[in-house]
Amino acid sequence: MTWPYKDTMPIDSAPETFIAGLTAVTDHIQHRFSELNDSEPIPSRREIDAALQALPSALPRSGLGVDATVHHLIKDITPGLLRGHAGSRFYGLVTGGVTPASQLADILGTSYDESLQINFPDATMAVALEQRALDMVLDLLDIPAEWFKGRSVTTGATASNIMGLACGRDALLLQSPHLPEGYTIAEHGFPPHIATVGQSPSSVPAIKVLTVKAHGSILKAAAITGIGRANVLDIPAATSEENPWGLAFDTIRLEEELCQADSLRQGVIVVVTLGEVNTGGFTPNIPGIEALCRKYHAWLHIDGAFGGFAALLPQYRHLVEEMKLADSLTLDAHKWLNVPYDTAMFYTRKASDLIRSFGPSPRLGTPAYLQVHADSATATVDVPDDVLKLREWLSGLTSPLNCGIENSRRFRALPLYAGLLEQGKAGYTDIIRRNCDFAQRICAWLTDPAKGGKWYTLVNSVEDAANPASSAKVPLNIVLFRGSHASCYPPSDMSSTTRLLHAINRQRLIYVTPTSWAGVGALRIAVSNWRTGLEGDGDFEAVITALSVAAHG
Ligand SMILES: *Cc1c(COP(=O)(O)O)cnc(C)c1O
Repeated sequence: MTWPYKDTMPIDSAPETFIAGLTAVTDHIQHRFSELNDSEPIPSRREIDAALQALPSALPRSGLGVDATVHHLIKDITPGLLRGHAGSRFYGLVTGGVTPASQLADILGTSYDESLQINFPDATMAVALEQRALDMVLDLLDIPAEWFKGRSVTTGATASNIMGLACGRDALLLQSPHLPEGYTIAEHGFPPHIATVGQSPSSVPAIKVLTVKAHGSILKAAAITGIGRANVLDIPAATSEENPWGLAFDTIRLEEELCQADSLRQGVIVVVTLGEVNTGGFTPNIPGIEALCRKYHAWLHIDGAFGGFAALLPQYRHLVEEMKLADSLTLDAHKWLNVPYDTAMFYTRKASDLIRSFGPSPRLGTPAYLQVHADSATATVDVPDDVLKLREWLSGLTSPLNCGIENSRRFRALPLYAGLLEQGKAGYTDIIRRNCDFAQRICAWLTDPAKGGKWYTLVNSVEDAANPASSAKVPLNIVLFRGSHASCYPPSDMSSTTRLLHAINRQRLIYVTPTSWAGVGALRIAVSNWRTGLEGDGDFEAVITALSVAAHG
């Protein structure tokens, strides 16, 4: 294809030009919104090819201008994008979607293009909105706002996990008798002669991370924070009826490791996952793990990326008290809260733990150009007390650059705030319940010998303790399954998972992603979109059709 666009005036500031582009974009979004549920979740190979061919081979010399650029995006590029990623039939990973108000807020936020770097209380109240949004997330979970005093809006659970390991690392080193007082990696870099795990520490022992089936981002966090991937140890208990997916800690080994590390005054971060991403399962006995952390001076990081929000359902209420035990806590907004990418939260019990690792150097202080100089002469006459209090609150808030990874960053708290207001506690509870019920319906179909049971095996079934005679259940919102021995996709055949994956996705009715469990391939259906399973949506029928058709090879 030849590049059909002409270089034109690069700068066209006429309002009509922008408004024409905006209208084209809103028309497109409007159309997508009404079609999203029934449209094919992924584009065809041909559409992807065409969009690839539409990419310019080089930068246009003088620019296309607004009109041609927007036309290019809508006509050439969007057909090659994952059109159903935000829709109700995309069941890969755990992707959520975007609620209407959070999508609109994102568009508004872009229009303001405000960077939440420094708290300028004379110029904007954006930092207060961010704090209120962070409070409201805790409120959603019935955790008192003052419980976690350090907090930040982040780009994802990965960033939050990096922050958790960084905060733990520096808080632990501060207690280390092997280092001079006040020593942190954030300030002083790596201590000389760090010993690796297993070596007899003649100098400063490395920090180690003890976990069970942590999300891959914990290894990335260990890599970035200098802890090192080799110092992340997986210590699962043997699988059993009570521990079907091996998410429980081997508590004897955990205590041994903690006790040994404590005797060497070696720092340990224990990472517990709520909602393991493969199965949706939970690590049990968090209070017991926390007690060991306290006894042996370890840092407890809880990664509740999406599973933490299961606490909204009565059967998972206990997660609220468990999340409160964390020294640091990760929660994602762009997964189950259905806020646009990329948005997540990070919390620590003490604000000082966050500022130590992400704030200014205690030696150098904040660079002059990043300092806040509030105008104290702003009139206070005739200002009611409650307003004065609010002003004081805003002025006292820490600049976001001192409690997070980025300096400049987008106003991603605005869509989060909008989603929280739009849905409230009842709305989010309903989404999470509806998503779990949907997974349960698929599970019932898969295990019914007259239906999906003819071809498929459910991998992540749990016993219903209250009703052992009841049919199989899956934890939360994730269904893991594979072809049965009698199917065209027997688990003994290495190619089965890929063949089944393609047989399902090729129909472009639903989209699923592969994984493996206990060394054998399996497919995942993860239900996390706010629209999935709404009355009359046809989503369930789409799943059953896709699985039935695929079963016939
Ligand atoms: C998804 C997930 C992550 C990583 O989250 P991102 O938002 O993709 O960075 C970390 N931990 C768990 C448990 C997750 O489910």
